Formats: sequence, structure tokens, C-alpha cells
Amino acid sequence: MFSGGIPIGRFFGIEVKLHWSWFFILFLITWLLATGYFPSIEEYEDWSAATCWVLGLVTSILFFASVLAHELAHSLVAKAGGLKVSAITLFFFGGVSQLSDEPKSPGNEFLMAMAGPGTTLVIAGACWGIFFATQHPVSPVTGIAFWLAAMNTLLAVFNLIPGFPLDGGRVLRSIIWWRSHNLLRSTRIASIIGRGFGYLFIFGGIALIFTDYWSNGLWLLFLGWLLENAAAGSYRQMALRDIFRGHKVSEVMTQDCEVVPSTTTVEQLVNDHILVSGRRCYSVVDYGRALGLVTANDVRAVERKLWPVKTVRDIMTPIDKMRQVRPDDDLSTVMYLLMEQGVNQVPVLQDNNIIGMVWRDSLLVFVHVRSELGMKL
Ligand SMILES: [Zn+2]
Repeated sequence: MFSGGIPIGRFFGIEVKLHWSWFFILFLITWLLATGYFPSIEEYEDWSAATCWVLGLVTSILFFASVLAHELAHSLVAKAGGLKVSAITLFFFGGVSQLSDEPKSPGNEFLMAMAGPGTTLVIAGACWGIFFATQHPVSPVTGIAFWLAAMNTLLAVFNLIPGFPLDGGRVLRSIIWWRSHNLLRSTRIASIIGRGFGYLFIFGGIALIFTDYWSNGLWLLFLGWLLENAAAGSYRQMALRDIFRGHKVSEVMTQDCEVVPSTTTVEQLVNDHILVSGRRCYSVVDYGRALGLVTANDVRAVERKLWPVKTVRDIMTPIDKMRQVRPDDDLSTVMYLLMEQGVNQVPVLQDNNIIGMVWRDSLLVFVHVRSELGMKL
């Protein structure tokens, strides 16, 4: 859901991306600060609108910097605990750290979860300090520090709500996990509580809509909806991971990748291969070496009149641009890979050759067959 984004750089080896919604929120916060917050401060009465806009922009950028610090704290502790963090995406009121797997131990998860709100509380404390230290005379710094202190306090409190997948919910999960030694059951309990808070926000939001605070009600409703969805989704993901764990790529990979020479034209590919065999993917080779992969989707993207001139090499996805797996990789990591990359298939490589494919729907069939047979899900 939040995997796309514009990369802005690497911090401590972790790629940081901005989700499109970030720009909207940056504008919204700047606008609220410039037209509502700063003009309402008595001491700032005679400041120009331009000054308020500049202060608003500076404040909202600092706010996002503190959100980034929160996410970096999670990610750095995760890395120290042996997890791979592929990227941090900043969106909306927060960020998401993309982890390649679940934490390895309850202690690990506890530290990882606490690192974010801990950092936010430290920032809040520092901002409260600056606010109180700059009272006489009141300056722009005072106003900025107050707003950042209040927002970071709010952010920490919100994140510490004990509903999964919020940080507080992760803390709760780590404690149940530590007591029960059962990660799946702990996730179920913590995410049920997360959904409970989600519903609470939704009902609270609906109630507020009928009062003078209707706009706060809308926010609360939206937040509750996000939380309910995230809690339900994270549990499903966790349950799926449990089904796949211990199974290997070789169990579900299809070996329907036909080999075509790199000089084959798209027209030849369609007439001599796709229409004849009905296969969905083709491994493009040159002197016995796999160069890339062509799927029916790639063909569809080529204009009909270019079919005789374009070769498979022109339209293929090069092998080094694709995430690849090996036949003995664990299926749970492949599931994460497919979800994280938002792709439908991933090639299976052995000795630089494409020996098969794992399709998203093969994974679905894997789950479906097991549930039909009444096997443990
Ligand atoms: Zn967090």
C-alpha cells in the first residue's frame, strides 16, 4: 500500500523515500501553521503573512525531520538486531520502515518498538526545554519549539497506544510473545486490540461529527479506519508467513519458462511461441546465458506495428534489474518479496540460468489447496 515513493537519499545506509501524500500533508501543515497557529500568537501580531508562511514551512519541515528521526531509530535498532531494512517511506503523519522479516526475538522486538517513541519523547523534551528557555523575549524560535514539542508529545502518545501495528502494540506483542513463546498468537491478540482501538476511533469520530468539533471527528474517523485496516492486514500477513515458512521455492515454482534467442522478434515470439504453447514467460538467452525475461505483459506494452522490428531483447526486463530467488529459498521470504516489490512473479535462478518462476497465483493456490484439505493454516 505504501511501497511507492520518491527517493531523497540514504541515511546510515537506509534509503529514505517520500510518499506522494507527504507533499500534500507538508502543504496542509504549512498552511494551518501560517494562517492559523502563528497569527493567533499574541506576541506575533504585527508579523506579515509572508513571515508566517516562512515560519510555517520551516516548522513543518522540522516536524518531518523528527518523524524521520523516529523511523531511523526503529530501523537502526532493527539492523543492529540482524534484520534487513530496505527502505523508509515517509507518508502522511508518519513513516513506514520496510523490514524484510519479522524480529528474531521478543527482546529484539521490544527494543525496536521502543526506539521510535523513545526518540520522539527525547525530541519533545528538547523542544519543551527550548520553549521554556526562550520566553524572554518571545521569538520565532519560541513558537516553533512549542508547536514541535506539542506535536512530538502527541505523536509519542499516539504511537504508544497498545494496538498492533502501532509501536505500543509491538511492545505489547513482544511481552505476550516473551510469555507465550508463540509469535502468531501474540500477533493475533495484539492486532485484535489494534482493531479495537481502530473501532473506538471510528465511533468516537462519528460522535464528534455531530458536534462543533466535526473536523476533528473526520480526522479521528480516518485514523481509526487506517488503524483497523493496518491491524487486520498485518495479522493476515503474519498468518500467511506462518503457512509458507519451512517450505521451499522449488515446491511451488513453475518450470514453464521457455528459452528464446535474444534476436527473436516480438512477432515471432507471439506467433511461434505464445500462441502455440500459451506460456506466460520466456527466458531470453544469448550463447546459453540468460539475459532477461519477457512476459505477456511486456508484449502487450509494445505497439502492434512495431512487433516485426522490436526484438525480445528490446522489451525484456534485464536479469540484473530483477529480484531473484533460489530453489531452496524459504517461501515466506518470497511472499515478502512479492508484496514489497508489488510484482506478480519472481524468477528462480540457478547457475545464472532461469530455471523457473514463482507466480503470485501459485502462492494463492498453495494456500487454497491446503485449506481445502483441511490442513493447518
Ligand atoms: Zn514508530
